[in-house]
Amino acid sequence: MLAASKLKISTGRLLIDGQWVDGSKKFDTINPATGEVLTQIAEASPADVDRAVDAARRAFEDRSGAWRKLSASERGRLIWKLADLVEKNIDELAELETLDNGKPIFESRYVDMPMVIDVLRYYAGLATKIHGETVNTFETAFTYTLREPVGVVGLIVPWNFPLLLASWKVGPALACGNTVVLKPAEQTPLTTLKFGELVVEAGFPAGVVNILTGGPETGKAIVAHPGIDKIAFTGSTAVGKEIMRGAADTLKRVTLELGGKSPNIVFADADIDSAVKGAISGIFYGKGEVCNAGSRLFLESKLKDEFTEKLVARAAKMRPADPLDPKTRLGAIVSQEQMQTVLGFIEAGKKDGAKLVAGGNRVAVDGSKGFFIEPTIFSDVKNEMKIAREEIFGPVLSVLTFDDMDEVIEQANNNPYGLAAAVWTRDVKRAHSVSRRLKAGTVWINTYGLMDASLPFGGYKSSGFGRELGAHAVEHYTELKTVWLNMA
Ligand code: NAD
Repeated sequence: MLAASKLKISTGRLLIDGQWVDGSKKFDTINPATGEVLTQIAEASPADVDRAVDAARRAFEDRSGAWRKLSASERGRLIWKLADLVEKNIDELAELETLDNGKPIFESRYVDMPMVIDVLRYYAGLATKIHGETVNTFETAFTYTLREPVGVVGLIVPWNFPLLLASWKVGPALACGNTVVLKPAEQTPLTTLKFGELVVEAGFPAGVVNILTGGPETGKAIVAHPGIDKIAFTGSTAVGKEIMRGAADTLKRVTLELGGKSPNIVFADADIDSAVKGAISGIFYGKGEVCNAGSRLFLESKLKDEFTEKLVARAAKMRPADPLDPKTRLGAIVSQEQMQTVLGFIEAGKKDGAKLVAGGNRVAVDGSKGFFIEPTIFSDVKNEMKIAREEIFGPVLSVLTFDDMDEVIEQANNNPYGLAAAVWTRDVKRAHSVSRRLKAGTVWINTYGLMDASLPFGGYKSSGFGRELGAHAVEHYTELKTVWLNMA
């Protein structure tokens, strides 16, 4: 039997102008570990989007209103208070995330939520460090720049790290003085709704943070809305392209954090046991539903047999299990639809001639109807195969081999995506030279998947543009104004 949650989950409503309101339509949110309905969620209509944007616009434009009157330091303190409330409610938030997304409670409680708190505190501190500059031009002029908030920002978030990715956007948007309309993914709205309660409790003025639940139609209405100045989107590359097209008519600013097919490269001189651990966590952490998953593992040929054997042995120990059990390290795939997509990729791998060396099947956990897939490994994969080219977004690893550095760099870069990459070697010169030549927004050396609120994250090529996290995010949530004063 799967563990039963004692949480009381109420029906989801929309947060507009500081008030919780019902939507005209509703949809179910499902527990992927059981296939059962957790609760019903309001679907925001275009009229709801109008109301939320109006509220955000009013809160932003009223220069003597509660939000614009706050100093940068006061804004920072409010964001810090929100972080404190997230910390106070960390157990409930973690459990909600696990119930809605299927990720192990170990991840929600000890990775996602602590990072949400870190990110909010990082941007709370950054609020007072956003500034323009004075520039010396002519004796007869005083010239300077101002960094001003962009305005009303639409934040659209996917289902894999629901509250964490929301915090990556909400933190800098509010620190810079914007107001926001936030839409979580339809599969995983619960933690964002709880977060909305904490926003109200923290005392953010009405209209500063609006939360609209719903699916693609709600997202499209946000993207098309003329009252929104910028869209910050995380999600698939296909939808990212649609968003860019949709934003063109109103010339909105856009930042896109999209998919990945990240190469994880192991040279024969690496610390093999660490590299095996890194390869396993690189693909199976978060059930492989991770944008920077190390889904293409490149092994120097002479390592292939020993390394693959070790991988398979470790994968065998990672049985999918009850996400609410603190010992679980591989949870449930987020939805039935995503499970079918992943199983489809596994079939494609077999058909294309890759060798299935571990997993490959859906499994039942404790007799539940949940969406669980075994950790799956293919060896003898070629870079042209579908499983090596396309983002699977599930626990499926493709193992490829190489014989020299130029060859592996060419193969690693020969993919539309460029989100992240890793290289394992004891040779420092080689580590840096490979890092420079990889077309990826993040490169890890002798580790995989580390993140910090202070370091920028984002993609090259089809993995999007703009950087989240770190101080660079400020560039995307502000406009830069030049001021000339005639002193003649
Ligand atoms: P998705 O693109 O299907 O949906 C993401 C969000 O966009 C959801 O909130 C959805 O409702 C909304 N949406 C869907 N269609 C829309 C449209 N036409 N207009 C406006 N909004 C729309 O992505 P997903 O399946 O939820 O998430 C998985 C994808 O996210 C993967 O490709 C993954 O790599 C990517 N991702 C990227 C990063 C990163 O930082 N680069 C991080 C996490 C996930």
